[in-house]
Amino acid sequence: MVFESSNSKIVCTIGPASKSEEVLAKMIEAGMDVARLNLSHEDHKTGKVTFDTIRSVDDMIPILFDLQGPKIRIGDMKEPAILESGQEFILSTEKFVGDHKRVSISHEELPKDVKKGNIIALNDGIVRLIVKSVKGTEVLTEVTHGGPISSRKGANIPGIKLSCKVPTEEDLRDLDLAAELEPDFVALSFVTEADDVKRLRWAMDTKGLEDTDIISKIEHTLAIKNYDEILKASDGVMIARGDLGIEVPLEEVPILQRDMIKKANVWAKPAIVATHMLESMTDDIMPTRAEVSDVAHAVLDRADAVMLSAETAVGVDPVGTVAMMERIIRRAEKALPHVDPLAVTSPRRMIVEVIGNLTYNAVSLIPDKIDGVITATRSGYTAKWISKFRPPVPVFAVTSSNKISRKLRLLWGVHPITQEQHLDNVDDLVQASTQVVYDRGFIDKNKDIVFTSGVQVIPGRTNVVGVFHVKDLLS
Ligand code: PEP
Repeated sequence: MVFESSNSKIVCTIGPASKSEEVLAKMIEAGMDVARLNLSHEDHKTGKVTFDTIRSVDDMIPILFDLQGPKIRIGDMKEPAILESGQEFILSTEKFVGDHKRVSISHEELPKDVKKGNIIALNDGIVRLIVKSVKGTEVLTEVTHGGPISSRKGANIPGIKLSCKVPTEEDLRDLDLAAELEPDFVALSFVTEADDVKRLRWAMDTKGLEDTDIISKIEHTLAIKNYDEILKASDGVMIARGDLGIEVPLEEVPILQRDMIKKANVWAKPAIVATHMLESMTDDIMPTRAEVSDVAHAVLDRADAVMLSAETAVGVDPVGTVAMMERIIRRAEKALPHVDPLAVTSPRRMIVEVIGNLTYNAVSLIPDKIDGVITATRSGYTAKWISKFRPPVPVFAVTSSNKISRKLRLLWGVHPITQEQHLDNVDDLVQASTQVVYDRGFIDKNKDIVFTSGVQVIPGRTNVVGVFHVKDLLS
């Protein structure tokens, strides 16, 4: 095979350590496929500068805007404190500088949203409190697991549906920046039901962001309960294990991860596995063996993408971290287990799945003869349904839109190429598409390719699959 690349993609969070043109270029070279801007840490001015820098380095790198959602934080503290198990601790909606006995909390509705017996987790779940009583603006708690807290640390209330709406008012304001810059994906934090996603879709449509895909972050117990409906309403999902691991018992996370990827895969929706993947590389040049294993298992779970957060945003070696992730992915992919295509075929048994299944089988029967799958796709639909079967050769998606090309880059094994296409005759389409893939140097003229498309190239009408010898198609 001429074209060698990893199949699972790498999403990198861009921050102070990775905002320069030089570092971005090296990260792309090392294997970064998608850039993530975390709007919890960017204001509109810095967000715009970072966005423009990424586009100037490579305008085919997709950009994901991650909306903050209703993240609760404690307020400022005089100094960091250690809470002792068994002590009383007060959370208050009043504004003041906190100490080891009481702190301010950003969620104004907290006294209304919690009741006696609810758990509140602080500082990534390290500290746990149990609510004893609520009095006016104050929530009185007892510390059940002591530990350190400091200014602006996060707070989670596992299993409780908060009274604030998702997307929040701030998320909607952040959409104005999205409307100006046109990212390829918007990720929605703390989704609990499909209506959250539909509200965001409506808001995005009214701001001219119809073509921007929505990635729902699965990090709340209710999102797990309502996963099927959320998946249906979304264009993809992110398994946001940081907050998810606070919401559910930790031992549940790997199983939930595997099951959620599988369901997303059945419906040809990309699944991103996120958070703490190579966490120790934030401060060190080497990951732990457990982290390497975590990335490899996400790949073996057939995730479309794995994500780096602090590692690339503020880490000591963003480029080295991406290179390490790429190495782990490539090695794990050599051991990807065979999955019967029927096991991932949706209950709807659509024609496009017949095409995907046939493509997978053709490639799997004669992998040494086939240099790639070429799909001519207008909306990206065909490429998605080919990718979901995880064929063992690259999928070259030829499309006339840069935006579609960028969105396709998130998908497992898909390598998009933008080329004007005004062809609705399948013979011309197969020739023109193969020619452009050959001209890029991605396929050998003495090999075969599997071509898929719709005769009329209409979304949802994927109905053609054929095996062609490359040389026969070149002009
Ligand atoms: C997570 O919680 O894993 C996550 C990705 O969300 P955040 O934006 O809070 O990092």
